[in-house]
Amino acid sequence: MSFLEEINRRRTFGIISHPDAGKTTLTEKLLLFGGAIQEAGAVKSNKIKKGATSDFMEIERQRGISVATSVLAFEYNGIKINILDTPGHKDFAEDTFRTLTAVDSVIVVIDVAKGVEEQTEKLVEVCRMRNIPMIVFINKLDREGKDAFDLLDEVEQKLGLKVTPLSFPIGMGYEFKGIYNIWEKNVNLFSGDSRKDIEETIEISDLASDELDKLVGEDAANTLREEIELVQGIYPDFDKDAYKNGELQPVFFGSALNNFGVRELLDCFIEIAPTPRSKQSDTRLVDPDEKKFTGFVFKIHANMDPNHRNRLAFVKIVSGEFKRNTPYLHVRNNKKLKFSSPNAFFAEKKEIVDISYPGDIVGLQDTGSFKIGDTLTEGEVLNYKGVPSFSPEHFRYINNADPLKSKQLAKGIDQLMDEGVAQLFTLELNGRKVIGTVGALQYEVIQYRLEHEYGAKCTYENLNVAKACWVEPEDEKNDEFKEFKQVKQRFLAKDKQDQLVFLADSMFSLQMTQQKYPSIKFHFTSEYN
Ligand code: GDP
Repeated sequence: MSFLEEINRRRTFGIISHPDAGKTTLTEKLLLFGGAIQEAGAVKSNKIKKGATSDFMEIERQRGISVATSVLAFEYNGIKINILDTPGHKDFAEDTFRTLTAVDSVIVVIDVAKGVEEQTEKLVEVCRMRNIPMIVFINKLDREGKDAFDLLDEVEQKLGLKVTPLSFPIGMGYEFKGIYNIWEKNVNLFSGDSRKDIEETIEISDLASDELDKLVGEDAANTLREEIELVQGIYPDFDKDAYKNGELQPVFFGSALNNFGVRELLDCFIEIAPTPRSKQSDTRLVDPDEKKFTGFVFKIHANMDPNHRNRLAFVKIVSGEFKRNTPYLHVRNNKKLKFSSPNAFFAEKKEIVDISYPGDIVGLQDTGSFKIGDTLTEGEVLNYKGVPSFSPEHFRYINNADPLKSKQLAKGIDQLMDEGVAQLFTLELNGRKVIGTVGALQYEVIQYRLEHEYGAKCTYENLNVAKACWVEPEDEKNDEFKEFKQVKQRFLAKDKQDQLVFLADSMFSLQMTQQKYPSIKFHFTSEYN
């Protein structure tokens, strides 16, 4: 197969949802279609179990699963599909945000009864900002839920999307009879038998034909006819380019648990979902079909075995072919590195591979030279943008609880921050260290891992900060900026890249500061250039 054919047969995407909407179940059914797993239950949920948040075994269990499910790859009809795992728990949202920098499209799963939930809103917003193509899958149609039109309205309003249904339910809950596939023009009858792998599909080229009445009954057939007419009146025709530009989102209905409507979703997905996309770097736009390899680190997974300080850096290949034992430039360190055992990921295992293509993810063994956002090339100096740190919402001082282990503590903190577990800020005034996180659970993770992996102990102390923002002065030398630095000295810190950060003690004081110093820009992500 040629290089171009390899690129064109790849689809790299993420499934996003609020916890419990059915992401794990859908992933599993997709893998079953690909023959990547043999039975249901093989995909482990990366969910934090309710009430188990302070159970350290739970944290380890979660981390173990998280490395196993980071990338789930399978082949379906000649297409190589890479599913990137996105934790649904809000305390790990940052991990998910970063993973979204490595996907070429997403599928959004929504629970038909619960509709659009909080976590869905946040994640979709990130995708919208990046114009990532999205397909919406409305799940659990075997249960009573919201009216399909109301739900489509809700998706448009709460998520700011423009939708067009490509399938439509016939009844719901007890009355759920099946799905009319607008995309393929056929009817899928629901039998409620989850053991069946592939359900029966019946071609209906003309909705007016009385065959439909025979299949689903006269009442349901008439309702469907009216609803499809309404759909065609209200929603725009599907347009592949609009979808690819993030301007139009097709919607499918189904039931992941019953494996119903999933094949339709997958068949449409492989046809319309984008092949690996071009990516912007600080110097130029890089196309996947360029001969030379480039890629970036979007995730680091560390120390599953505490005896070996090994880490696995996940690299998304943007262009060219990644080859084993070939020296590549680590741009930030200006060093050439070779990788003798790059891992490729398959459904439930990882294997050493000789060659990988754009869209693929390789896992590189690392002893601490990578951090999130790092770029690898064949020699060209460029840096991929778009793996920002997000403004944390929880802040605590971190103190050393074992003076004999201060080196271990420093090293542990350093590596955990490179992994993106949390962010470290150093106060300008007194050099004290502050850990900022997106979710409170991270503090326990850090404490636990510092102790078990680095032999260091820490304690925390509360700090009254509501929001951190990155400060960009118009001119470092102007009086306004000088005054700001003097007046706000107590609230200023540096992040790990030595960028200046303002730690506002309340949203109100942040607003006041913004008003008082109009020439200074306050950013909510670290990457603002
Ligand atoms: P995740 O948190 O988004 O990964 O959700 P899961 O896939 O773990 O699903 C959450 C719960 O919803 C589980 O108990 C599933 O069995 C259930 N579930 C998933 N899909 C369906 C469906 O189509 N119908 C019904 N009735 N339940 C479902």
